[in-house]
Amino acid sequence: MFKLDNKVAIVTGSGSKKGIGRTIALTLAEQGATVVVADLNLDGIADTVTAIKEAGGTAYGVELNVTSQASVDTMVEEVLSEFGRIDILINNAGISQKVTVEDMTIEDITKVFNVNMFGLFLCTQAVLKPMKEQKFGRIVSLSSVSAKRGGGVFGGAHYSASKAAVLGFSKNLAREVALDGITVNCVAPGLVNTDIWKLLPEELASNVIAGIPMGRPGETEEIAAAIAFLASEEASYITGEEIDINGGSHM
Ligand code: NAD
Repeated sequence: MFKLDNKVAIVTGSGSKKGIGRTIALTLAEQGATVVVADLNLDGIADTVTAIKEAGGTAYGVELNVTSQASVDTMVEEVLSEFGRIDILINNAGISQKVTVEDMTIEDITKVFNVNMFGLFLCTQAVLKPMKEQKFGRIVSLSSVSAKRGGGVFGGAHYSASKAAVLGFSKNLAREVALDGITVNCVAPGLVNTDIWKLLPEELASNVIAGIPMGRPGETEEIAAAIAFLASEEASYITGEEIDINGGSHM
């Protein structure tokens, strides 16, 4: 795969034990990056850091609430004082909520946007200065297939809207920083084989599978591989792009 030696990477939301962020963190570390495991979940951080170290990689855990300016600033200061640079930011932290528009409240929308969009904004803004100074940066954010074709059983319209906002935000920023050596891209996963998938009732799961030409959910490793590529030196001429990773469920 693509080498990330000497790169310092922050992966937000990488403390979920079965989540995509943990696999992204493990994959980037496998490729040689020093990985900052950042999450609200302290146990999860410790777990991911241990897994990376056991695999021979380098990891550093830090508590992070992406919705708090103070928390984001503290994390960035800590990473800079520890490692002196930030090369890669993976905006992975995200939440969803199953609710219809009819039942949705402004509080529901605010909660989802606070993490998925405003949190992503705070983390992204905070790394721009060091990345500009280095004349190198890779920002990769998690959108979703539901941004493009509407969500299904897992999230509400506010989730889809927040993930569509991630795409527009990233394309705009890609133009703003294109001359600074910074690329800004997204991946848009379809259904991924995480805990939420395993909890689905069998009948519902078969209905969902029927809509996926490849006939199965994606694996977290399949999302992480595309992210490792976008985070690498080799992806230097790709910016403002999104990669769909969905087994053909949206083309
Ligand atoms: P997950 O719930 O397993 O993990 C999300 C992590 O984000 C958790 O560890 C949680 O503690 C952390 N987090 C939540 N709020 C936070 C905050 N305010 N500050 C810091 N960390 C916070 O989720 P997942 O299924 O692994 O999804 C990861 C990303 O991929 C999300 O952005 C999600 O929207 C996106 N995605 C997932 C799927 C899927 O099928 N699982 C599909 C498309 C997109």
